[in-house]
Amino acid sequence: MTAATPLLIATAQVMLIVIVRYFAASGGFALWTARRGIVAGPADPGRRRRQIAAEIRWSLVSALIYGLPAGLMLAAWHQYGLTQIQSDLGVAGLLWWPVSVALYLFLHDSWFYWTHRWMHTPRLFKHVHAVHHASKPPTAWAAMSFHPWEALSGALLIPALVFVIPIHWSALAVVLTVATVMGVTNHMGWEMFPASWVEGWFGRHIITASHHEAHHARYNCNYGLYFRFWDRVCGTDRGLATFRR
Ligand SMILES: [Zn+2]
Ligand SMILES: [Zn+2]
Repeated sequence: MTAATPLLIATAQVMLIVIVRYFAASGGFALWTARRGIVAGPADPGRRRRQIAAEIRWSLVSALIYGLPAGLMLAAWHQYGLTQIQSDLGVAGLLWWPVSVALYLFLHDSWFYWTHRWMHTPRLFKHVHAVHHASKPPTAWAAMSFHPWEALSGALLIPALVFVIPIHWSALAVVLTVATVMGVTNHMGWEMFPASWVEGWFGRHIITASHHEAHHARYNCNYGLYFRFWDRVCGTDRGLATFRR
């Protein structure tokens, strides 16, 4: 056993977890929408099948890429004690818990917004981001359907943040769960929230399928991940797509 063995084991474990998580989350929501009679993706069955197969292929490559920095993070935390991930919750920890979740989500959203806008510059779009936009309209399987360079940019931020900003492991689990669920639900071709929510305070601030579907339809708007904040500030928010209910 060398010094790098825990790192290799953690990386392999995380890759496997991300793959299982992908099939559970995307498969679960795809099944849920199918049971409701929603046909996500292209209307033509042949095109739909080919698109979903491509979404799964790219997502599996992305899962391996996500595993690298996440495995490094896991080993640095568990084996080497190098991260700011906390195991104990004191009074200060309890107060910090919701702040850390909000801060991590805001920073992840900011990173995504600006790298996403960068991906829409012509050269990067053609060579990298076109993979994600090949899903037109997307399905639940498109949650991690990214070119490897885009997957790497998406995989880096949270594992980097845990070296800098303290967070309890359970708060980190909440952040990762939100990232996983919203990645799937925003692509699943159906709005799961009631119209009163989407048109009310919640939908004005939080991104749901109606917001991201408009990005896949129109390309040059609605770049955000969780919040409409940056789209509003930068004038790139062009409202919501509508789904059959
Ligand atoms: Zn998308
Ligand atoms: Zn895009």
